Amino acid sequence: MSSETSPIELDVLVIGAGFAGLYQTYKLKQAGFKFLTVEAADDVGGTWYWNRYPGARCDIVSVEYSYSFDEDLQQEWEWSERYAAQPEILRYAQHVADRFGLREHIRFNTRIVSAIWDDERARWVSTAEDGTVFDSQFIVTAVGCLSAPKPPEIDGFEDFNGEVYFTSRWPHEPVDFTGKRVAVIGTGSSGVQSIPIIAKEADQLTVFQRTAVYTLPALNRPTDPEEMARIKANYKELRERAKTMRTGLIVPRGTKSAHEATPEERKAAFDACWDEIGIFACLAATFTDLHTDEEANRYAAEYVHERIRQIVKDPQTADDLIPRGYPFAAKRVCLDSGYYETFNRENVRLVNLRRDPIVCITENGIQTASELHEFDVIVFATGFDAVTGPLLRLGIQGRDGLALADVWRERPATYMGLQVAGFPNLFTLTGPGSPGVLSNVMVSIEQHVEWVSETLEDLRDRGIRTMEATPEAQEKWFEENNRLAEGTLYVKADSWFMGANVPGKPRFFMLYMGGVPLYREICEEVRANGYTGFVLAA
Ligand code: NAP
Repeated sequence: MSSETSPIELDVLVIGAGFAGLYQTYKLKQAGFKFLTVEAADDVGGTWYWNRYPGARCDIVSVEYSYSFDEDLQQEWEWSERYAAQPEILRYAQHVADRFGLREHIRFNTRIVSAIWDDERARWVSTAEDGTVFDSQFIVTAVGCLSAPKPPEIDGFEDFNGEVYFTSRWPHEPVDFTGKRVAVIGTGSSGVQSIPIIAKEADQLTVFQRTAVYTLPALNRPTDPEEMARIKANYKELRERAKTMRTGLIVPRGTKSAHEATPEERKAAFDACWDEIGIFACLAATFTDLHTDEEANRYAAEYVHERIRQIVKDPQTADDLIPRGYPFAAKRVCLDSGYYETFNRENVRLVNLRRDPIVCITENGIQTASELHEFDVIVFATGFDAVTGPLLRLGIQGRDGLALADVWRERPATYMGLQVAGFPNLFTLTGPGSPGVLSNVMVSIEQHVEWVSETLEDLRDRGIRTMEATPEAQEKWFEENNRLAEGTLYVKADSWFMGANVPGKPRFFMLYMGGVPLYREICEEVRANGYTGFVLAA
């Protein structure tokens, strides 16, 4: 694409055309702003555009992981499975873009590499990789929380002569594993979903696991037409109910401590999750204290350990697959379809990197401390520089040349996850300090977009030129969220929630811990009180 010669003048530049960016595009179009959405990819879909690995599917039921803003849309769209697979979710995003005429407002193949605040003119000057310049009063980032892949971090990576794939940047053409010796490095959600599928195709599959993960059976199934008719008849109520749940996700919640239950009651509650419910957050919600009390948490952890021992036949492999060293659900729990069973296959082997760490990648494979493993293909399912990473890639500089990268070097502070002090007129959808991907992100996306859109309209109506979070409000928000997080077991795991999966990243819980309903309430209160914690200037 050729670059434009003069800057493109806009009220609002939206960065990203995933689910947040699409809805933001829709809202700005409705409100008649002069705006443009830019997208690095050549199509919409965000996460669901890039993560095309085999087995990629949603781990929130599709009737909840979808837009609620348009009744006709939710009535007409048919999900074929309880948990839709990536191609279907991508088709849904494409459908939304077409149905609401959004594509004409999106400039594809446009990756923003710098965004610099011009204080004199009170405008953002953003530059794309191809040199195109956008001059806008506001920027709304819709770059997602899990869109900046982690680099391989393993010595010798360039030396490997075989095929290399990243789950987060999967090719558009299917990859054929037939007859091949395949390695998968990483056992988070992406590994857990892809491993069972790759195992069925490959000649041999070796899984390199650094930290064993907690995963529950998804109990995925084709959509039942009668159930779907019931849901559609009550869709509005279902969406409203989701907003009242801490996670923005409808999940049965227990009302008493795990300590108050008898062993039989605990087993019955856990069995129901494993055998009947199949929602990633269900087991942690069975009792009130599994996220806060280590002893209570251990009941759930030991239950899963026992299920693993029952499924996996080889005792050493079963033992290696048992998560240790962190509480149950302190890392994001995965949902799987036959993950543990896969390790009973003759062609699958597990390497426990805690016992036998990777030394380097060689021309022919992976050298661990004890063995050279030869491969035709290496798949990296090694995750993301989450939450802050996607924003830091934009090269953002605020007042007085202040770089966002410098501000966040020590701590990822924001006000409400929506703004950073020193960066006026920059709104960060699902940014650090928002419920973001700690919740059903679709619920949070809709709430964020609606709040930002109403704010932008309000500022326009009142002739406000700049809006900026105050350092004091930001400090208070950041401290309060840390306080809430410190009261949970989340802080005890080296997770991407904590920034602990990226060497050198500051260790803080990066998402809002107060829950979706409280967050919504605070957002409404802030506006009702004239944007508490923000400075507005005409
Ligand atoms: P992840 O959860 O961060 O998992 C990455 C895996 O790679 C971990 O097992 C990690 O081990 C391992 N790893 C990273 N660097 C490594 C290294 N240098 N050497 C060896 N192992 C290494 O990433 P993810 O699986 O892509 O999932 C990220 C998040 O995306 C999920 O938690 C979920 O929220 C979302 N997601 C959702 C879906 C879905 O909806 N279905 C699917 C995929 C992802 P350590 O744990 O030891 O760091």
